[in-house]
Amino acid sequence: MRKNDLLTLPITGYTHDGAGVGRTKEGYVLFVPRTAAGDLAQVRVVKVGRSFGYGRLEALIDPSPDRLPPPPDCPAFPRCGGCAYRHINYTAELAAKRRQVEAALAKALPDPPPVADVVPSPEIDRYRNKIALPVGLQGGHAVTGYYRLHSHDIVPCEDCLLQPREVSAAAQALCAHIDRHGISVYDERTHSGLVRSLFVRAGQGAGQYMAAVVVNGQTLPAAQGLTEALRAALPGLVSLQLNHHTARTNLLLGARSTLLFGQDKVEDLLLGIRHRISLHSFYQINRLQCEALYRCAIRLAGLTGAERVLDLYCGIGTIGLSMAPHCAEVLGVELLPQAVLDAAEGARQNGLHNARFLCADAAQAARQLADEGFAPDVVVLDPPRKGCDRALLQTVAGMAPGRIVYISCNPATLARDLAVLLELGYRAGEAQPFDLFPRTAHVECVTLMSRVEK
Ligand code: SAH
Repeated sequence: MRKNDLLTLPITGYTHDGAGVGRTKEGYVLFVPRTAAGDLAQVRVVKVGRSFGYGRLEALIDPSPDRLPPPPDCPAFPRCGGCAYRHINYTAELAAKRRQVEAALAKALPDPPPVADVVPSPEIDRYRNKIALPVGLQGGHAVTGYYRLHSHDIVPCEDCLLQPREVSAAAQALCAHIDRHGISVYDERTHSGLVRSLFVRAGQGAGQYMAAVVVNGQTLPAAQGLTEALRAALPGLVSLQLNHHTARTNLLLGARSTLLFGQDKVEDLLLGIRHRISLHSFYQINRLQCEALYRCAIRLAGLTGAERVLDLYCGIGTIGLSMAPHCAEVLGVELLPQAVLDAAEGARQNGLHNARFLCADAAQAARQLADEGFAPDVVVLDPPRKGCDRALLQTVAGMAPGRIVYISCNPATLARDLAVLLELGYRAGEAQPFDLFPRTAHVECVTLMSRVEK
């Protein structure tokens, strides 16, 4: 096998990031982005590694029955790295995501739990409530778009199908403002230029929008005019901020913001509970499907009204506050101070007086709570992609809750952490994947771990 070889390959599955997997007659594995399981594909070898390599699709000899008829519904696909699955039908996408969870569990666990069918998202397009659009220059004009896969080159996209239409109008208003006033656009190679990106969060349940213009500087020329244009584009805009992001990092936002209009939070409704969300707080990006996920978590928690619930990595407290009406007490732990303030305000405003929140590292807080003799009946774990560390899992298991509800956005770290909990005296129920991120390669999963009585 050499670089530039041309091969004919059957594609048999997908990687965790949605590339097709092909295997040569000799058993060598090639990852080929934007192919579909069931394709017979002509592939150009672009990179050769010891046990696997990468290829580029040159021609489809026999297309998979899972493929949608071309052209794709988005002109930026497949150059844009946002979507992995716009070329196959949704049923095939859900099947790929289920196999992805199965493969991750099988890799880490000798006796993996069964994986249920993926719960489909109620909306496949325009479901995202958080959008961060980098601004670039093309032909002397400002454009917004998304990054090419594994790069920071902007692929212009006027109307991304994952975002609400109003956000596309807002992006166009920002680009027109930049052109009209000759404002510079940020260039990350030289760390110069002013406007970096447009950030929008929709509280669809409350009919509100929040937006932030992220700038490498302190002021924005003619900000009043832009405020009016964005208020016209985003109905129900309640918050517009100028976010000052002058560091040379890939982070989406800078630490400091100035208010251009309205308040500094946006509201949304989840399962009848009103949440207030600050600019930096984490909030699930697919509202309707998030409600389905939380309903499942509440059911798995087996709440009767008497339980003490510990909600670790609680963000703005959305899961704990959804459980609060069904249990005795909720204690949430979250690292980001803004999110903890949002959570406490949520508890107060919704009259959920049995919920309180701590700002701390989850592992340290759990250690301290255990030392103080805090004994939860249910622990919710909803960590970031890197999962939980072993010390935290040991502390949690030491508290001996009857049930641990583990919500994960990364099947690989979920599998690793379940293996630890199995060692520590828990058994795993069925893994239930939820498609929170249609058309992308991401998949969410919830699993109940029950304590084995000795
Ligand atoms: N449960 C929430 C948030 C989940 S996202 C929801 O469903 O909306 C994960 C959260 O963990 C983020 O809010 C992040 O700020 C927080 N986090 C990351 N590292 C942490 C740590 N070491 N200790 C506590 N929280 C942490």
